Amino acid sequence: MVRLAPKLLVVDDEEALAATVSDLAEEIGFCPSATSSPEEFKQLYNHEYDVIVLDLLMPEVDGIELIRFLAEADCEASIVLMSGFDANVLQAATELARAQGLRVVGSVRKPIRLDELESILGRAANPERIDLHPESSGPTAEELKTALEEGQLHVFYQPRISLEDGSVVGLEALARWRHPKHGFFSPSLFIPLAEQTGLIEPLTDVVLRKACGQCGPWLKEKLISEVAVNMSAQMRDLELPEAILSTLGEYGLTASQLVIEITETALMRELVKSLDVLTRLRMKGILLAIDDFGTGYSTMQQLQRYPFNEIKIDKSFVKNVTTDDESRAIVDTTIELGRRLGMRVVAEGVESVGALDYLRSRGCDMAQGFFIAKPMPAAAAENWLRSVERIGHFTPA
Ligand code: C2E
Ligand code: CA
Ligand code: CA
Repeated sequence: MVRLAPKLLVVDDEEALAATVSDLAEEIGFCPSATSSPEEFKQLYNHEYDVIVLDLLMPEVDGIELIRFLAEADCEASIVLMSGFDANVLQAATELARAQGLRVVGSVRKPIRLDELESILGRAANPERIDLHPESSGPTAEELKTALEEGQLHVFYQPRISLEDGSVVGLEALARWRHPKHGFFSPSLFIPLAEQTGLIEPLTDVVLRKACGQCGPWLKEKLISEVAVNMSAQMRDLELPEAILSTLGEYGLTASQLVIEITETALMRELVKSLDVLTRLRMKGILLAIDDFGTGYSTMQQLQRYPFNEIKIDKSFVKNVTTDDESRAIVDTTIELGRRLGMRVVAEGVESVGALDYLRSRGCDMAQGFFIAKPMPAAAAENWLRSVERIGHFTPA
């Protein structure tokens, strides 16, 4: 299927500025057009525009009137407001437009800064409706490399509890990239990039080291018994088991305090080599979990061949376990499968007390999810662990 570039319309009476905005938009993958006349804009306007960049102050007509026009036309485009007025005026105009049902994704003050506009336009490209050139929409490999070097990578922690007694078993370490300009990037934006560019290895090393350093004291204090780290493309690295063990040693941790989570799909990609690496990890005493279970195609036979300790039922099934028969069937079957194969079963994506109660009634071992706690920075995780420790077990707030 051929995807057309998203259409962008600039409305500004300053023609030079309109041209600059158009050029920038084209550079980052839009198909731009511009008009300097509000009257022409009204004629040009149709529902095919994905993004509209609107100047609020034009000689013949004010921007507020155009906002009203767009609202009456049930405009669904992403709107970026521009103005030479001060920030308060822009803020008021933004609120006014939103109150009328328009989708304002950002505003820029004149004189505009191109980098600011670029990042707003990047956001304006709603990925569900618009497909920007991937190299221009997300972060680049170069930026990710810098991020790793400059310590922009952080680790958040999400607890998992025992369903038997509500005690905290451990934490899962989840990578977060805090970009100095764009704020937090979610892993779905940069993990695939890291995997494609070979940066996944240094990235995993950073996460593992942070996790060991930050969780080390909590492990020693027995606030938690284990910490889980995600690994994906590394399973073909035959040196991995030794490298991990030596890192654990540096931080004074033992093998059985680490869980490595590997997704079902990553596993299937490199069947033979990963079997070698996994077996040696297991022999060294590291715990292994199969992540996102149910989303790939492993068979009972394959599962038996792999030395896993744990199955993590994917959140897409857990979320709907109380409402959807099919999800419930998959959850029930996986719990049973884990029991038969002697593996513990963790449900991720527990978002309600209903799901928690259901899983407990089915004999699922552990639970993780927003209902228990969201992923948190280290300091917040420590507070959470201490407050649960005081009560003795997890209780819903
Ligand atoms: P995952 O391993 O399946 O991690 C669980 C994801 O589910 C996390 O997303 C977490 O924030 C989210 N989650 C937790 N509880 C709930 C809930 O109740 N409801 C819903 N809807 N979501 C919940 P996050 O942090 O965005 O991570 C996304 C994925 O990125 C992870 O999925 C993991 O596959 C990958 N990832 C994260 N950190 C790393 C890393 O250091 N290395 C590698 N290789 N992958 C990582
Ligand atoms: Ca995981
Ligand atoms: Ca998962």
